[in-house]
Amino acid sequence: MNRKQSSALMQRACRTIPGGVNSPVRAFKGVGGDPVFFDHADGPYLYDVDGNQYIDYIGSWGPMVLGHNHTPTIAAVQQQATKALGFGAPTEAEIELAETIVQRVPSMQQVRMVNSGTEATMSAIRLARGFTGRDLILKFTGCYHGHSDSLLVKAGSGVLTLGLPNSPGVPAELAARTLSLPFNNLDAVAQVFEQYPGEIACIIVEPVAGNMGCIPPKPGYLQGLRDIAHKDGALIIFDEVMTGFRVSPGGAQTLYDIEPDLTTLGKIVGGGLPVGAFGGREEIMQYIAPVGPIYQAGTLSGNPLAMAAGLSTLRHLTTDAYQAIGAATDALVDGLVARAASAGLQVCENRVCGMFSLFFGIDEAAEYDDVAGSNIDQFNAFFHAMLDQGVYLAPSAFEAGFISATHTSEVIQTTLDAAEVAFSKLIAT
Ligand SMILES: *Cc1c(COP(=O)(O)O)cnc(C)c1O
Repeated sequence: MNRKQSSALMQRACRTIPGGVNSPVRAFKGVGGDPVFFDHADGPYLYDVDGNQYIDYIGSWGPMVLGHNHTPTIAAVQQQATKALGFGAPTEAEIELAETIVQRVPSMQQVRMVNSGTEATMSAIRLARGFTGRDLILKFTGCYHGHSDSLLVKAGSGVLTLGLPNSPGVPAELAARTLSLPFNNLDAVAQVFEQYPGEIACIIVEPVAGNMGCIPPKPGYLQGLRDIAHKDGALIIFDEVMTGFRVSPGGAQTLYDIEPDLTTLGKIVGGGLPVGAFGGREEIMQYIAPVGPIYQAGTLSGNPLAMAAGLSTLRHLTTDAYQAIGAATDALVDGLVARAASAGLQVCENRVCGMFSLFFGIDEAAEYDDVAGSNIDQFNAFFHAMLDQGVYLAPSAFEAGFISATHTSEVIQTTLDAAEVAFSKLIAT
């Protein structure tokens, strides 16, 4: 597959943009080679600047859950664009999106819009600290909650892809207030609460981890976290920036039937435009300015174009859409595992409606150390073999794959045919 234009653009980009990209994972540092520069997209397909077509398993890291170029969403954005791009003043669309979120996610009685997942988690942490009057926070190794200072401790996603345990530039005093424990291990959590009684403001967790590959919670894990937190007067925050409106109509919390105190959203809630949101119990949300003392603001927050895209996306995410996405996920993952097994490769998988990961060389992936012990070289070879056959997977063994409502059985079959070829190449090398 010829990608000359992409390579030329990467060289040009590196002169004026650090590393050529505006977010690190895009640079292909984890898998090697030059990133692909895209021109347009439709349904499950991406088209690069050299005219190559790919089946997309990233979906803009989640938002394109209805497929690219979703006609009603494009129309809604276009219609808003003819009226105004923004006011920096209230609009009805903000209420409509807030009402839609509150209706789908019952634990969110009130919600505040922001512009990214990073802003949502950063603000939710500030709120949890302000509400409880405590400074410590507890997160899990390999979970990613955006790039704000307090949350860049043992983080997932691009931080893992680049092999950076912690980032320079985060003051040690601040990092010391973030405790990090292995995911899916309740004993460790109970111990840390015994060690710091009355000092931990909140637990923040991805209810299905998606930034060290896809790792679902063990049965009872999320309930256990909530119980331990509440016993000590701490809050629990579900970071559903990835899982929100992906794994079920109300996110992971309705799928597993656990109500967190606060929830953060991003990705799908903006329908492809930059939106994040955080919300929760009214009693807690009333601490936010202008009603309460905890400051949080944003010039472009609730931007009308972004609200239009988010609202249209949520309106079209019907029960039928989730069924189709879940069935496509099962067909893909079952097919991948079967083909890997016939090729004699050791793999294991995790999946939760619309999210999946295939891990090479391990039996189980339940926490970060498992994924770190998987065969990353084999993943990277698989990634390139798929890319060269027109299948665009996330360019890192530490990222999940995403499926849209436009990934038909034909699209899945084409992917599986490519995987069969890719697996046979891995065996040959
Ligand atoms: C993507 C992601 C974030 C960060 O969102 P941005 O919009 O990239 O700032 C935070 N938490 C989780 C779980 C995510 O997947």
